[in-house]
Amino acid sequence: ITGEEATVKFEDLCLKEPIVRGLKHCRFFEPSPIQLKAIPIGKCGYDLIMQAKSGTGKTCVFSVIILEQLDLMDTESIEKIQALVLAPTREIAVQNEMVLKHIGVFMPSLKVKSFIGGTAVSQSVSRSRNCNVVVGTPGRILHMIVEGHMDLSQVEVVVIDEADRIMEASFISDVSSIFQQLPEEKQIIAASATYPDGLKGFVRRFMREPIEITIDSTPMLLAVEQYIVNVHKVLSQPESKTNEDVFQKKFKVILEIIQKFQYTQAIIFTRYTLQADKVYNLLTGLNYDAALLHGKISQFNRLAAFRNTKDGKCKILVASDVAARGIDCEGVDLVINFEAPDNLCTYIHRTGRAGRFGSAGIVITLWAFREDVSRIRDFINKVKCEVHILDTPQHLEMLAE
Ligand code: ADP
Ligand code: MG
Repeated sequence: ITGEEATVKFEDLCLKEPIVRGLKHCRFFEPSPIQLKAIPIGKCGYDLIMQAKSGTGKTCVFSVIILEQLDLMDTESIEKIQALVLAPTREIAVQNEMVLKHIGVFMPSLKVKSFIGGTAVSQSVSRSRNCNVVVGTPGRILHMIVEGHMDLSQVEVVVIDEADRIMEASFISDVSSIFQQLPEEKQIIAASATYPDGLKGFVRRFMREPIEITIDSTPMLLAVEQYIVNVHKVLSQPESKTNEDVFQKKFKVILEIIQKFQYTQAIIFTRYTLQADKVYNLLTGLNYDAALLHGKISQFNRLAAFRNTKDGKCKILVASDVAARGIDCEGVDLVINFEAPDNLCTYIHRTGRAGRFGSAGIVITLWAFREDVSRIRDFINKVKCEVHILDTPQHLEMLAE
């Protein structure tokens, strides 16, 4: 005993041998704080509510717990769906499927499949045979159950990723219907970076004496620097009267930023899909290597944009809030908000797309309308960490340095 705190490795967590090897294969050697706390408890079968900042490795927590609990020895069990992971967006579902497969690479009987909207139902039906872990969005999963293509009566572990979003009005009726199909005896794991007040009680209704694990309840990422840019002032131009004029100014500021600022990959978030289309078209028109991701484009193109961003093949992703949560693209170190998002929760999640697993990043929110001032002030107060306001042309230059 040296008296120093020893670094814990994944092999110290008493995991099954193929899982430890799988983690190494993913180049995960040391567990993050949430992993260190939540994996041992989850492995014992307790219901879990885990809250930890974006990019701190929650996917790996529930993936390891699922893989630990699976029975892949018994030939009959192998054919049954033993675990279910619900995610609010199709991209997160596909990403969870990838992580499970990646960590489970040395478990030959593991069969993980994703079921998401926007893809052919017939394809989902044929995929649903022969799998033991199911990942999906609530709508498609429910569809599969109702049509008699999916039997969830043997499920032992259920994960609700981005739990606060999944518990919102738009999902809750589907989720409740899915839960009715699950056996009484099961383990439930809820994961998120944010839990608005009152939601925990909601999660608890589905759970049995859950254990709450919170790592640092302030959700802002300290390694991500935050800026607010007053677009009129940094361009030293008078306030605009029309939306089009504001749009053009914002685009001009974006060009300044992406031309001068050193970044690996960027995500530009817009509130409206039409705006996203416009930004994307202008960028590609100027030969920028950009991709577009929002709810109004085909699922095929959505996944292509997501994969290209994840693989580092495209430099800039222009997206709506469908990409605000959960997606993990290692190269993203710059997030630009075309306007301040509607609420703090969305701001936190968008910001979390940069600074994955403790890496440095920056988030720049463009600000143009007078009425935005109170909203921005409100943000700054709530965010409770340093936010720099840029409101002279020199400020923009400084950002580039
Ligand atoms: P969260 O769901 O908490 O937002 P993710 O599960 O998406 O975060 O993980 C964020 C990133 O951290 C991913 O790129 C993942 O590969 C990486 N990561 C997770 N756990 C570890 C670990 N123990 N060591 C190194 N990298 C890790
Ligand atoms: Mg996540």
